[in-house]
Amino acid sequence: MTDAPSERGFRTTLSHIGRATKREHGFVNPPLLRGSTVLVPTVAERQALQARRGERVLTYGTGGSATHWALEDAIAAIEGGTRCYVVSTGLAAVTTPLLAWLKAGDHLLMPDHVYGPARNFATTMLRDFGVETTFYLPEVDAAGLAALMRPNTKVVYTESPGSHTFEVQDVPAIARAAHAGGAKVFMDNTWGIHHFQPFAHGVDVSIQAATKYLAGHSDVLIGSITVNNDADWQILHAAGRTLGQYASPDDCWLTLRGIRTMGVRLQAQMEAGLQVAHWLRQQPEVAQVLHPGLPGAPGHELWRRDFTGACSLFGVEFRREVTTAATHRFVEALELFGIGASWGGYESLAVPTTGFITRSAGGPSFPGPIVRIHIGLEDVDDLIADLRHGLKAMRA
Ligand SMILES: *Cc1c(COP(=O)(O)O)cnc(C)c1O
Repeated sequence: MTDAPSERGFRTTLSHIGRATKREHGFVNPPLLRGSTVLVPTVAERQALQARRGERVLTYGTGGSATHWALEDAIAAIEGGTRCYVVSTGLAAVTTPLLAWLKAGDHLLMPDHVYGPARNFATTMLRDFGVETTFYLPEVDAAGLAALMRPNTKVVYTESPGSHTFEVQDVPAIARAAHAGGAKVFMDNTWGIHHFQPFAHGVDVSIQAATKYLAGHSDVLIGSITVNNDADWQILHAAGRTLGQYASPDDCWLTLRGIRTMGVRLQAQMEAGLQVAHWLRQQPEVAQVLHPGLPGAPGHELWRRDFTGACSLFGVEFRREVTTAATHRFVEALELFGIGASWGGYESLAVPTTGFITRSAGGPSFPGPIVRIHIGLEDVDDLIADLRHGLKAMRA
C-alpha cells in the first residue's frame, strides 16, 4: 500500500507515503484531479470499467482518483490499517460506519463522554431507525463491558480520551469483551492520531476527524474511516458508495499537504501543550488539568501503557468557587487564544465547554467549570504570558 516499509520512522513515512513520482512525470506530489465525468472511447470499455467497480480504476468522481487514493493510503499507513475511505467531514466518518454496521433491532454501546454530535446521531436518527443505544461509563473494564453486552449488540463504540473530559479508555479490554460477544469495535481516534495504533489494540474500525491535526490549518473539513481487513473494507466501501459519502479532491489534496508536516507539528504541539498544562496545574484557581499525558492526571497510567505520545488538546477544570462567568472573562481576555470550535490547527484556542458535557451513565461529575485548551504553534512563553494575563482578568 505504502511506498515506505513500516519499520521506518513516522516522519519518514509521512514524507514518502501517497506519492506517485514515476507516474507523474517526476513531480513530487500526486495531481489534484477534479472531476465527475470520466470519458471512455467505446461502450465496451465503459462496460469493462463498470465491471471493475470497487477497484482503483477511474469510473466516475465518486469512485475516486489518484488524489483520493494517495490520501487514503497515507491515513491507512498512519493508523496501521489496510484500507481507508475518506468522507466530507469528521462527523460523516462517525455516521457512515454506524449506518454500515447497524440495522433495525440492533444495540449499540457508546461511552458517556462521546463527541456530542455522535451522541446526537445515536439518540435521534439511529433511535428512529430502530437501533437502541446504551451509554456506558468510559472507564469500564472487560467484566463491566461484558455485563452490558446483549445478544443484539453489534457495535461497541470507543473514543479515547473522551471529548471535553479526556477520560482514557481501556480499549484492549473493551475490545476483548466486545469480540467475545460478537460485536465490532469502533474508535474515534482523532486525539490519538498515530500515537494510538487502533488495530494493534483490538479496534476494527478507526475514525479520524482529519479536519484536526491531519489537515492541520483550520481550512478543511474532512473525515476518514480505516479498517484492517478485506471483509470490513467491503462493508465500509459499499456503505460509503450507497450513502453517496465521499470527500472533495481539493480537500484530499490539502489534507495530504497537511500530513507532510504533521510529524513536526505534532511533536512541537505535544511539547508546548505539556508545558502549558504543567503551568496551568500550578495556578491557584485550577482544580485539575485533564491531560492524560500529565503525570498524576486522570488516565495517565493507561495513556502511558497504550499511547506513544499526546496531541495538544486538553481540559482545565477550575475550582468550584470559580464562576462560569469568570471563565468567560478569562477566555475573552486572551489575545493569542481564539474562542471557536474545532482544534488541531496551527493556532491556539480556549473555549468554555461545561455546557457541552452530557452524562447519562451516572459517572462522576465535574463540580468546577471546564475550559478546553488547544495549543498551536506559537512560542510557548508568549502563550503562558497570555494565560497569566487572562487569569488576572478572571480575578477582577
Ligand atoms: C471535531 C470532531 C469530530 C468531527 O469532525 P468534523 O470534521 O468537525 O465534522 C469527530 N470527533 C471528534 C472527537 C472531534 O473532535
